[in-house]
Amino acid sequence: MVSVKQLATQLTDGIQSGNDLPQSRAASTVYHGLEGNEKHSNPKAIPSPPIFKHLFDIQRTMNTPAQRIPFHVLLMCALVVWLISGTACRHTDNKQPKDFSPGTAISPRPTEDSGGTLDPMQARFDVQHIDLDLKIDPKRNSISGTARLSLLMLETTDSLLLDLDSRFKINALKVRSTEQAEIPSRFAHSEGALYIRPSITLNPSQRIHVEVAYQGKPQEAERAPWDGGFTWTETEDGHPWIATTVQGEGGDLWFPCKDHPSDKPESVDLHITVPDPLVVAANGKLISTERHSNKWSTYHWQTHHPISNYNLALNIGPYEVIDSTYTSVDGTEVPFLFWVLPSSREKAEQAVPEFKRHLNFYERWLGPYPFRDEKYGIVETPHLGMEHQTIIAYGNQFRGGPHGYDWLHHHELGHEWWGNLVTADDWAHFWLHEGTCTYMQMLYAEERQGAMAYHHGMYTDRKRIKSEFPMVPDQATSIDTIDEQLGVDMYFKGSWILHTLRYLIGKEHLQTCLRRFNYPDPSLETNADGSAIHFSNTKDFIGLVEEVSGQDLQWFFDVYLKQAALPKLIEKREGDEWTIQWDVPEGHPFPMPLEIEKGGEIKKYPMNEGRLTIPVHSKQVLLDPNNWILKERRSVLLGNPYEETFD
Ligand SMILES: [Zn+2]
Repeated sequence: MVSVKQLATQLTDGIQSGNDLPQSRAASTVYHGLEGNEKHSNPKAIPSPPIFKHLFDIQRTMNTPAQRIPFHVLLMCALVVWLISGTACRHTDNKQPKDFSPGTAISPRPTEDSGGTLDPMQARFDVQHIDLDLKIDPKRNSISGTARLSLLMLETTDSLLLDLDSRFKINALKVRSTEQAEIPSRFAHSEGALYIRPSITLNPSQRIHVEVAYQGKPQEAERAPWDGGFTWTETEDGHPWIATTVQGEGGDLWFPCKDHPSDKPESVDLHITVPDPLVVAANGKLISTERHSNKWSTYHWQTHHPISNYNLALNIGPYEVIDSTYTSVDGTEVPFLFWVLPSSREKAEQAVPEFKRHLNFYERWLGPYPFRDEKYGIVETPHLGMEHQTIIAYGNQFRGGPHGYDWLHHHELGHEWWGNLVTADDWAHFWLHEGTCTYMQMLYAEERQGAMAYHHGMYTDRKRIKSEFPMVPDQATSIDTIDEQLGVDMYFKGSWILHTLRYLIGKEHLQTCLRRFNYPDPSLETNADGSAIHFSNTKDFIGLVEEVSGQDLQWFFDVYLKQAALPKLIEKREGDEWTIQWDVPEGHPFPMPLEIEKGGEIKKYPMNEGRLTIPVHSKQVLLDPNNWILKERRSVLLGNPYEETFD
């Protein structure tokens, strides 16, 4: 998925809901080493290692108390044998030892989902750095290598939980101190959960490194970017062309991580080895390219910005790079790099000026491009697109869009602010990423082609809104659930909420809100070192809007975000008067002022009590003539225009 999934689904297949997408999770979840009832995901149901059971069995076979060897002596002997045998450092049976389950772990999250309630075991540490050293083999569609994660302990713990697809075989796992001393540890890998039990208790502020050597065939994306995984395809001239897209499933489809949106590594190194003549385009800066004698090359990419797991991306192909520079609004000369297939070079060069205009538009609206100390990168991909940080995936084949610009590039670029600079701390607030990027497209249409293009775009998008579920669930929510319930609404209803908010607080205030949500303090706009990157959520957004507008707007967000039904305008004629009233479920207050057009003149009326009375008029009367308000019907015409009316 996901960034443009619903949008593109509509463009290619007609209007569909997220429910139409294939549900492959159940079919493709791989279970290892568990049988019968043990297939269930409750860690408590997973048996302890046989060695502990045998201890009890040995002791029970002693006939008399005198014959019995004290249990603690037996335990010591067993541990010595266990350590010598190497079992202590490696569990190859993929079963979770009994004492791995501290009673706090919740059911492992399915590999093909992301987020939801954060497991208490994962709340105990923060992922600080990820280093992936991986060989990508296009002949076997496989990957192999080592992931090194640096973790900062937030709470005392004697166990760790990471996520990694069970498709992979773990060859070795080591835990090290910051001085690189090995901390003997055991691990178990089952149902996409990687449990690690160091031999010592880890304390708050302690830093450790977890090193996982693994290999296997990663999940293939059947319909990237909407179904996540690796895309292994070929260019027209027969070269491998590879891409990763895992927003809906999380990074655990190809590397061990904490698959939750609330934790970003502060920095990442990628050492990716591919056969010549393939080129790797990835996040951050290219530090080095090392050519090996066996006709393989290793590309070292590095980012010093916090980055969501799903934004780590590999793009591998026989790329050429269009090497250009973009001058940021703050004067910084930003490397502007576009990796393209040789056959696309001419079209891509023609697109560069427009893509730079998109950058300038976002900078003027939202503040400087957040990653200008690294690069602005675009890469041609075999899938439609994705907002991978500093390496935007672009697969729209230079087709442009209905409003005279390349909507796909514009949309994905918007996520460098909405999604990558400011990130929802839970998928429950995903509308902040998608609704705003969709609305920014309309603002761009307005700037380029005027009010008619803006309103045409809003009118078209209005028809796509379903509004079957509240936009913001009141609890932590996984991305699968959000996608199934909200689908297109995240994009189009989210955009329409901002459209109506603009009507309510004015374009200038809205612009301030959009900018300050990205850079909460103007002084942060000068920071290009990653320190402006932050998490946020819907509550923060509401607080900001109220502060900027000086209005109490809880009623507005309660109606549009906390419940599904759209407000209705009810009009009723009594004698020579019309009574116009907002009808909102559950009796929510809704004092939305109303524009009324009479005889070509538009006037805004307050609706403080949610109702208004006007005299029946001889002229045509239109309520909300410009369709500013998100409501059940579009503009409402009062009365029958052929009926004789009077002043
Ligand atoms: Zn998007």
